[in-house]
Amino acid sequence: MSKEILVATKNKHKLIEISKLLVGLEITLKNLDDYENAPEVIEDKESFIENAAKKAIEYSKFTGILALADDSGLEIDVLDGRPGVQSARYAGEEQDDSKNISKLIDVLDGVPPDKRTARFKCLVVLAQNDNVLATAEGTCEGMITFSPAGEYGFGYDPVFIPKGYDKTFSELGAEVKDKISHRAIAFNKMAEIIKKKNFF
Ligand code: IMP
Repeated sequence: MSKEILVATKNKHKLIEISKLLVGLEITLKNLDDYENAPEVIEDKESFIENAAKKAIEYSKFTGILALADDSGLEIDVLDGRPGVQSARYAGEEQDDSKNISKLIDVLDGVPPDKRTARFKCLVVLAQNDNVLATAEGTCEGMITFSPAGEYGFGYDPVFIPKGYDKTFSELGAEVKDKISHRAIAFNKMAEIIKKKNFF
C-alpha cells in the first residue's frame, strides 16, 4: 500500500496547522481538495472523540485511504464546559468566528479574570474504513480575555490567552501556537504513533 494519509478537514486554517505538525513523517499527505465531491460530514455527536471518529471513518471510506480527522473546541469553566462540541456553531449555524466571539464576550460580561479559565481540546482519530486505528488528545489551558486582540489564526484565537503567557494566540502567532496548542499536542502524539506502528 502506498504511504498516503488524508488530512480530513475542510477548515483551511486547521489544514495548514496540521500539515506543519506532520511534516516529519515520510508520508504523502492528501487533503479533501485532492478529491472531487468530498461529502460534508455532519458533526452531530456529543463528544469530540465521537465526532472525530465519525469524520475519519466517513472520509476513509470515501477516499479508500487512511484518514486523520480532528474535532476540537473550547471549554469554559464558568459555562460548565460550553461551548464544547458546539464551539463552531455557538452563535448560529453559519459558523461565523466573529459572531461566536461577540456572543462569548457578552455571555462572560461581568465575569472577573480569575473566573475566566478555559481550555482548548483536540481529539484526533486515525481510521481505515470502518476501523479506528489510533486516537490522541491534546489540551491547552488558558483564559478568555475581555476583548479580542491580534490578527493570527482563527476561531477563538483572538480571545484565548494560553497559560503562562500574557497575549492571545492571535497575538502570539504561529511560532508559539504550533508548539503549545491543543492541536500541536494531539498531532505530535499521533505522529509518534504513526512512526512506531506499521499501518501500511
Ligand atoms: P471543528 O473541530 O471543526 O468542529 O471546529 C471547532 C471549533 O472550535 C472551531 O470552529 C473554532 O471555533 C474552535 N476552535 C478549535 N480549535 C481552535 C483553535 O486552535 N483556535 C481557535 N478556535 C478553535
